[in-house]
Amino acid sequence: MTITKSQQYLTHFRNIGIAAHIDAGKTTTTERILFFTGRNRNIGEVHDGAATMDWMEQERERGITITAAATTAHWKHSETGEDYTVNIIDTPGHVDFTIEVERSMRVLDGAVAVFDSSQGVEPQSETVWRQADRYGVPRIAFSNKMDKTGADFNLVVNDIRERLGAIPAPIQYPMGAESEFKGVIDIIRMRAHFFTNDIGTEINVTDVPEEYMDKVNEMRQQLIEAAAEVDEDLMHLYLEGEEPTVEQLVSAVRKGTIEKKIFPVLCGSALKNKGVQLLLDAVVDYLPSPLEVPAIKGTHEDGEGVTEFPADPDGKLAALAFKIMADPYVGRLTFVRIYSGTLNSGSYVYNASKDKRERVGRLLKMHANSREEVTELKAGELGAVIGLKDAGTGNTLIGDGDDVVLLESIDVPEPVIKL
Ligand code: GDP
Repeated sequence: MTITKSQQYLTHFRNIGIAAHIDAGKTTTTERILFFTGRNRNIGEVHDGAATMDWMEQERERGITITAAATTAHWKHSETGEDYTVNIIDTPGHVDFTIEVERSMRVLDGAVAVFDSSQGVEPQSETVWRQADRYGVPRIAFSNKMDKTGADFNLVVNDIRERLGAIPAPIQYPMGAESEFKGVIDIIRMRAHFFTNDIGTEINVTDVPEEYMDKVNEMRQQLIEAAAEVDEDLMHLYLEGEEPTVEQLVSAVRKGTIEKKIFPVLCGSALKNKGVQLLLDAVVDYLPSPLEVPAIKGTHEDGEGVTEFPADPDGKLAALAFKIMADPYVGRLTFVRIYSGTLNSGSYVYNASKDKRERVGRLLKMHANSREEVTELKAGELGAVIGLKDAGTGNTLIGDGDDVVLLESIDVPEPVIKL
């Protein structure tokens, strides 16, 4: 696929959800991601006070909240130094909200599945995993709570294979566990990351310690073999007996992840802020940009014919309303994902689901601790619209006067709520 100049920004976009069994640590992981993305320019630098300041204190000061249906964050990749926009879409963890989970699956391009290292794959994680399968969502797994009593990385890896029937690809190996959890080894880059302060914000990167060498070499070999199965170039190198470069291995694992053939597994402790930065790097490395997922399809009014809407800000407008929230200050907030085209504030759109022309008022991008008013939302972006009176969850918004299409609907029955 050729990427035009106006689509270039999309290569640095990731729209993700964080999915988990209740209690596995979804909220904590999301909060830490927002904490690190909010201060990412300081990562790795020595800065008086901040590193030793209790994160909760900082969090309170910054008023971090994750109540928005979609939160826009920014992350500078620790290796490449490139800036990425990471939109985090809220996916409810409770089984009563199955329909909402499915709705959110519709608007995200990739997910982080969080597991409790002491529990492995729990029944509800299985439910969420199957939903992600139905929507074809590529995933990476985070084996959380490595600091907790009973934490066992291998349990999570084995459960992914046995209970979920998926191919786990550990790209990290923990150094220690429970109260002795000291850090993680990056199996791809063959480096050890020691968390040297109590809140994980200081990381000491070293060579792989001798005691872990055999184990990690063996795991790396398995990773290369799994990646070679999905990537011809890597298979070629493998058959020639040549070691792949880091870039070659990252690229092959990325391909396998996007094709949902392999699932990278990482570990850490969200509560202790350990490993979350590396998780963010992995989101960028392995989860797809909006250009790497199949284009959304719209069905024409008469039921005949289908139009695809590739992620392109210059294309025709195609957007989906996925959550309505009542805001005490501005009233009705309609959260939308723009698949194609550009939504402008003050413009008119056509709500194809309701057969109504609607006026777009102001547009907002939600950040962890602030809202940003913008004049446009482009393909691949998520944000909130103020002023739409009729749009409901699941409605299709298109350009005023364009051919009427309905985007692939969220075709799941409402759950029966037992009283
Ligand atoms: P959610 O229900 O998946 O959103 O889970 P929460 O993020 O609310 O976490 C559930 C409980 O697990 C809370 O008491 C957290 O403090 C705790 N928790 C989350 N992450 C970790 C971790 O890495 N280590 C430990 N020991 N506890 C954690």
